[in-house]
Amino acid sequence: VRTSAHHQVLASVIRALSAEKWPACLLDCQGTFLFVNEPWDRRVREERGSDESLSESLIGTGWLDSIQGEDARRVYSDLLARALTLRDQHARPIVQICESNTPTTARLVSTRIEPVLMQGADPIAVSVVHTTVRERPIEEVYDLVHRVADAYRDDRGQIAQCSCCRRLKDPAEPERWDLVPELLMDPPPVSHQLCELCAEIHYGVLEPVA
Ligand SMILES: [Zn+2]
Repeated sequence: VRTSAHHQVLASVIRALSAEKWPACLLDCQGTFLFVNEPWDRRVREERGSDESLSESLIGTGWLDSIQGEDARRVYSDLLARALTLRDQHARPIVQICESNTPTTARLVSTRIEPVLMQGADPIAVSVVHTTVRERPIEEVYDLVHRVADAYRDDRGQIAQCSCCRRLKDPAEPERWDLVPELLMDPPPVSHQLCELCAEIHYGVLEPVA
């Protein structure tokens, strides 16, 4: 009986997420993808510059593994853990603001992480919805820089990119991060971290999970 009630709740959440206009996914309590909706698939294709549908290959893999960079992964791992401690359907959801920039658009995204609860029990899943809260032409938000990839390679030939705003770190000037539209999507080979600005304005208020 309990299993079938479980399935009914999950099925109704999946129906709601399918109807959602924003990118959304459903995770099990270990953070494994159970479902991603069409807008989510489209957003990931856009970000990876791919034409292929990725939803099939994502199901069963870890949500945190899809997040680039150790810094950002740690933040979302904490948020997921915190969402799993919520037991009240009406509790304020966990929300994190981040950027999802493209060569032409500066996009600010609010990520809402909510447990799927059954009465008086532990969460049975977690829903994640990415709502766009602002979109502006990229040149209105950032000074665009047009330099070649080699200008950003460190001693080991690596390029450091912010996992949030996607600016590139200038190895010659440690405080400098450039928005290079030509290299924004895929500057190889890349390592991801959070730039000081994103760490402060988007992730600064985050408190560690007790
Ligand atoms: Zn950044």
